[in-house]
Amino acid sequence: MVTEQTVLDRVPRGLFVAGTWRASASGAAIAVEDPSTTKTLVDVADATVDDGLAALDAAAGAQTQWAATPPRMRGELLRAAYELLIQRAEEFALLMTLEMGKPLAQSRGEVAYGAEFLRWFSEEAVRIAGRWSTAPDGATRLLTMKQPVGPTLMITPWNFPLAMGTRKIGPAIAAGCTMVVKPARQTPLTMLALAGLLQEVGVPSGVLNVVTTTRTGELVRALMSDPRLRKVTFTGSTPIGQGLVRQSADQMLRVSMELGGNAPFLVFPDADLDAAVDGAMLAKMRNMGEACTAANRFIVHESLADDFASRFAARMASEVVGRGTEDGVTVGPLIDGQQLRKVSDLVHDATSRGATVVTGGSTTRDTGYFYQPTVLTGVPADADLFREEIFGPVAPITTFGDDEKAVEMANDTMYGLAAYVYSANVSRVIRVCERLDFGMVGVNQGIVSNPAAPFGGVKHSGFGREGGPEGIEEYLDVKYVGIAP
Ligand code: NAP
Repeated sequence: MVTEQTVLDRVPRGLFVAGTWRASASGAAIAVEDPSTTKTLVDVADATVDDGLAALDAAAGAQTQWAATPPRMRGELLRAAYELLIQRAEEFALLMTLEMGKPLAQSRGEVAYGAEFLRWFSEEAVRIAGRWSTAPDGATRLLTMKQPVGPTLMITPWNFPLAMGTRKIGPAIAAGCTMVVKPARQTPLTMLALAGLLQEVGVPSGVLNVVTTTRTGELVRALMSDPRLRKVTFTGSTPIGQGLVRQSADQMLRVSMELGGNAPFLVFPDADLDAAVDGAMLAKMRNMGEACTAANRFIVHESLADDFASRFAARMASEVVGRGTEDGVTVGPLIDGQQLRKVSDLVHDATSRGATVVTGGSTTRDTGYFYQPTVLTGVPADADLFREEIFGPVAPITTFGDDEKAVEMANDTMYGLAAYVYSANVSRVIRVCERLDFGMVGVNQGIVSNPAAPFGGVKHSGFGREGGPEGIEEYLDVKYVGIAP
């Protein structure tokens, strides 16, 4: 029987280094909070810089042998991890809901999505290939081989505690890289449970190490200054990502950056309105809006803006806000008090500039970080929430008159992660998609994430791709060997 107490009792609370669980060298602990009650769930170890370096020692020590491990074996380990994760889906889902707040149904969805990266990359492990050719002058033969980049630091955010980990860990294991994972301090439990699962299926000691810490900047700087580290992959906010790119220069690390977004959701006059409202709910409300791909700006043709706004607002008003473990709840709390204040301030800023609240517009409970699903119309272009990532259940709507203007408005952001287009006209869809400065576009669908597709952004949303056949390339270096015949 999966209960809150049993999943919390089972989750490891130490640092996972060189295949063993250990306490922090300082004995310090991090209190993990339930965002729906603000009560502490459990304490986990708070790593020192030395603990972080011990994790890198383990990763560096295991690298040579791991790279030489047959690809089929690496793939089979991932496949076994996939199977076990699916078997334990209910436990992982509950744990994630407790520490992150999303409703159980959404946590179950994330377990399925996160597990899929393990299965996808179990299949990619045996497809790593180079090429063989004759140089144009015929004098030499050109062989290219792909080899693991080496020990990798993985830094993950709190919004998808499992999937943001597996989409880095999966390709790293498949490619033959060892790793040190640093999950977000708000949601370390899911990653610790995943490390336990990977240990159980037989991932060798030192290949995967996990350190939880509040000394994040200091610990990460120490690891990134160490010449044994060869890559950093980061999912999180743009300012932290920019700092890491600067730091990566000293050791010339390979870098992958999955950063913030400011997704436009475009509804053209020929769109199927029912489908657009369904898609808007998905694109806005998955994860309570705390997704980098979340629709941040609804840009709707003026001929259907009123109709869209009233239907969308009715759906938003019917959402059930509450603790994610409760039956029927569709919207959980935001992650913490800081995020709640930010969302609240963004709505105040918009209304003070003349926006109208159609539904929602305030916090909902005395305890926990809850905010009502909110729809705003008449939002002026200079409102802060058009520039910043909202990361909450708030949907601002604005209008456009012609396609040219719609594209211009959509591209008017420093971000370039995801965009959504609703239209029944194929020619218009192609024209608009070609002009959008974003790494991913959902056409007549409110979700773009798919383990078989390359996830990633352009501009201030970062670089590198996770998932798809492209995902493993981030963990492989190309070596060319010239052979005289
Ligand atoms: P964040 O503050 O940037 O934190 C993300 C991670 O970075 C956490 O593990 C955090 O550790 C760590 N970190 C903080 N300061 C650091 C430093 N100085 N050096 C190295 N690491 C540091 O972001 P967040 O608020 O948790 O997450 C939300 C952001 O992630 C949003 O902007 C969202 O768009 C983005 N995101 C992007 C994608 C994508 O694929 N593009 C996916 C999901 C989320 P601590 O917990 O210890 O602070």
